Amino acid sequence: MHRRKFLGTLPALSAAALPPLLEGQAGPAVPDPVERDVPRKTPTLALNHLGFRPRVGRKILVVRLTGPQPREEFLLRDIGSSNFHFRRSLTLTHGDFGPCLVGDFTDLDRAGMDGHIYQVSVGNERSVPFFVREDVWRRTLPKAVGYYRYQRCGVDVPGVHPICHLDDARRRDTGEHVNEVGGWHDAGDLRKWMDATMLNAIALLNLVRNISNPQPGDLSHERILDEVRHGNRYFLKMQDTDGKIWHDVAGGVNGDNSDNHWTDNTAGTADDRYIDVTKMEYIAAMFATLQAMASQLYRPSDPAYARLCLRAGVRAWTASARKGSTLDYTWWCLAACGLYRATNQPQYRTAALSLGRQLMARQATAFFAGQRRVRGYWTEDERASQLLPASSPPAPYFNIIFPAMPAYALLALYELFPEATDRSRWLDAVRMHLDEYVLPMSELNPYRIIPSGLYLGQPTPETYRPLAGKLTYRYFMPVRKQFWWQGINSHLENYALLAARFAVIEKERPGGGKRYVDLAYRQLEWVMGANPFGACLMTGEGMRNPYPHSRFVGPIPGGIMNGIAGNAQDEPVLDQDYGFDWRTNEYWSPHVAYYIWSVSTLEALS
Ligand SMILES: [Zn+2]
Repeated sequence: MHRRKFLGTLPALSAAALPPLLEGQAGPAVPDPVERDVPRKTPTLALNHLGFRPRVGRKILVVRLTGPQPREEFLLRDIGSSNFHFRRSLTLTHGDFGPCLVGDFTDLDRAGMDGHIYQVSVGNERSVPFFVREDVWRRTLPKAVGYYRYQRCGVDVPGVHPICHLDDARRRDTGEHVNEVGGWHDAGDLRKWMDATMLNAIALLNLVRNISNPQPGDLSHERILDEVRHGNRYFLKMQDTDGKIWHDVAGGVNGDNSDNHWTDNTAGTADDRYIDVTKMEYIAAMFATLQAMASQLYRPSDPAYARLCLRAGVRAWTASARKGSTLDYTWWCLAACGLYRATNQPQYRTAALSLGRQLMARQATAFFAGQRRVRGYWTEDERASQLLPASSPPAPYFNIIFPAMPAYALLALYELFPEATDRSRWLDAVRMHLDEYVLPMSELNPYRIIPSGLYLGQPTPETYRPLAGKLTYRYFMPVRKQFWWQGINSHLENYALLAARFAVIEKERPGGGKRYVDLAYRQLEWVMGANPFGACLMTGEGMRNPYPHSRFVGPIPGGIMNGIAGNAQDEPVLDQDYGFDWRTNEYWSPHVAYYIWSVSTLEALS
């Protein structure tokens, strides 16, 4: 497919969009997952490998039924004490992914100074040992933050790779050399997409906002700000003279993998990589959002750098008409909020309120497609909120990287403008999204993960699960639509972020937003082992990590893989047999970014 056309079909092009095998090797073009990639008979036990916080979120065990005789109870014991154990009953459920038993031990809150380590068993099968202590999530954050150091480009990373890509890069259109040294390698490869890697910086700056200093090691604000500044040197250089933002360095010339290689570090030689000078609205909006945040967070330590960032962000804002898709409006709304926070100038407030109205207009507030089961999801139709149910249904918004960001942008407005007349409407819109779409969808399976999207009927020849009326859904991306499909960790974690933020806002209300806390943690728990494979998808944490698709530097502590994808039947698949399948096993920036952002947001809850 022509590169530009290919880009137009995707919200953001995954760095993972590689051929299934290394260059030069023959392989099938679009292989369906093979039988070996589906869950095996064991493990049947799924729970979060990290463990659980006392009193925050539920503690749930899911047991897949793979034999005819359902066990009726589970045993939980304190590994460090022979005196503490109990048996509890399991409840049979018949949701998606087949029959399962569910156990609940939410009341296990015996965390002491040192925490306790527990284990669950059902029959002869034992779970991964797990802790109950307040910092089970927080203690993983330094590892996730440290992931970015391994991915630094343009510098020597001791023990990982020597100095690299000092010859980045030449323009695709004119061939002119432009200094684009730096940034982060985006994934299990060496390419430098702007959207995915700017998300790293945005997440790291949100981490600074979410946790107070002083923090030790990789979590100290100084270290995080140093990491962001490394990335931002590259981002700032990707701004053209007209204020707009280029798309990527080394993304490949025709949707291919030709730029994904080490170079001789000498500009002007044949192995120089290319700059894609395409300018996309949401990428400019992400850039403005990032620079506005940077201008605030560097102001105390480096006011000159803060001013430089702000000027760049304002230039990106001014250069744009700020129109386009649901995704474009989402990021421009976040950019307006950021620039208002950074400058206090009323023009950004006015723009933010207007962009909020654009987002509200795109929410399906009626029950479309001949059903009355879900509403409140986002669409690509700017008239969605005014259409009658009898109208032809608006196309649901689908984006595997930014699925929850339209709603998140409304929460940003809610938190920033306490006096706005639209304020209650923003919160109501997000509540409708969560209560009348996200939560009901999550209840269709025992793991409580949120399907990756809604569809109208069966757009491609594969399984679309019937919901109601003409609405269907898949947990995983369609595999017969296009070459690019992959695991959904960024989707799940983006929803963890939205639910976490909503829970923080709701925590003073009766009920304290508990079900949103649970929803957030269940998405993250799937990533960290509570899934049908019992596999933790972050390297260096939990058990049964698949070998990562990381072609140049190997396993990276804190790296999160694309994760579990689906086959044509929408059943989960994961490469656990060293198939080097990028679709499920490749690292990718958005997974780590949302992990950091959502976990640090949840730390505000106690
Ligand atoms: Zn490099």
